[in-house]
Amino acid sequence: MYCKHCAKEIDDKAEICVHCGRRVRSSISSILENSELTRLRPAKEAKSPGLAGFLGFFLSWVLLGPIGYLYLGQWNWFWITFAITVIAYPLTFGFAYVLFPFIFAFHQYQMAKELNEQLEVAKGREDS
Ligand SMILES: [Zn+2]
Repeated sequence: MYCKHCAKEIDDKAEICVHCGRRVRSSISSILENSELTRLRPAKEAKSPGLAGFLGFFLSWVLLGPIGYLYLGQWNWFWITFAITVIAYPLTFGFAYVLFPFIFAFHQYQMAKELNEQLEVAKGREDS
């Protein structure tokens, strides 16, 4: 690869350029790029960045965000993000459709009863 600062050729695994001494990658991206799990699989034909971005956005709206990685031929990234969404989506919808309905139902039920009690007290005062 080439240094992004001085453009001279350097070792593919170098973190610091031997020519200019500047860091060519962060340690986090170095871990990600060197990991077999997240390594990019080479493509057989050119991919459209626009279509890839669109798929990532559109498919996320129908809860299928990871599918976009299949267009890019990256099954490893598909499975990693699939595992994340399998955990994140039920948690998100669990809050939205299970936990919140019970919280709001209980709170608003109690509030209605309290309002009715206040109404009864006010009526009692009017009658006497
Ligand atoms: Zn350099």
